[in-house]
Amino acid sequence: MLHSDFLPTSYSANLRNTYWDLFQYACNRVEAFCPCNKLRVEIRHVLDGGPNWSLKQNPEGSSFATIKVPVTHDDHGVIFHEVFHSAFHFSPLWRDHKNIKWGDAFCDAFRYILEKEKSLNSVFVGDMEAWMHKPDTEVADESIQNTNQGNELFTYKPYGSRILNACDPSAYYASFLSIWDERNANPSHSLETYFNL
Ligand SMILES: [Zn+2]
Repeated sequence: MLHSDFLPTSYSANLRNTYWDLFQYACNRVEAFCPCNKLRVEIRHVLDGGPNWSLKQNPEGSSFATIKVPVTHDDHGVIFHEVFHSAFHFSPLWRDHKNIKWGDAFCDAFRYILEKEKSLNSVFVGDMEAWMHKPDTEVADESIQNTNQGNELFTYKPYGSRILNACDPSAYYASFLSIWDERNANPSHSLETYFNL
C-alpha cells in the first residue's frame, strides 16, 4: 500500500506517520505469522472510522480487505487488531467463524502481544491483564453473562485472555501456529475444549 493511500485525510503528519509505522509493524508480524501467504487477505485501504475489517471482492473473484480505524492520540493499538483479521480469515483459526468471539479474540490476543512489544501500555493492555488473572471457571461464567448482555466488544477480552494464558509468553507465534496446525489436522478440534471454557 502506498503511503498516499493510507488514511488520506486531514490528520497531522505526525499522527499519520505514527499509524503508518504501526500498520507496517503489524503487517510484518502477520507475514511472519502466516504459514502460507495465500491465507492472508491483502489490505488495500486504511480509512478513518470503524473500527472494522471488511472483505471485498474484485470482479474476477479475488478478495481484498478494507480496514477502518478511529484515529486518536491515545488508542493506537486498534490497528493491530484490524490487521490481524487478514491473518485469520480463511485460516483454520477462522473455522468457527459463525461464532465471532474466537475470531476477534485472536485479533485481541495479537493486539496485546504487539502493544507489549511496542510498550504502548494502553487501557486495553490493563483490561486484558485483569482478565488474564481470572480463573477459567469465572471467565466462562462472565463470558456467558456478557454475551447475554449483548456487549459484543467486551466479550472478546475473556476469550482473548484464555488464548494469551495458554500460549507460551516467550513463543506466542509458535503457540499460535501450533493451534493452527492442530485445527488443520483435526476437523473436530474445539477451541472451547482447547482453552478450558
Ligand atoms: Zn475485530
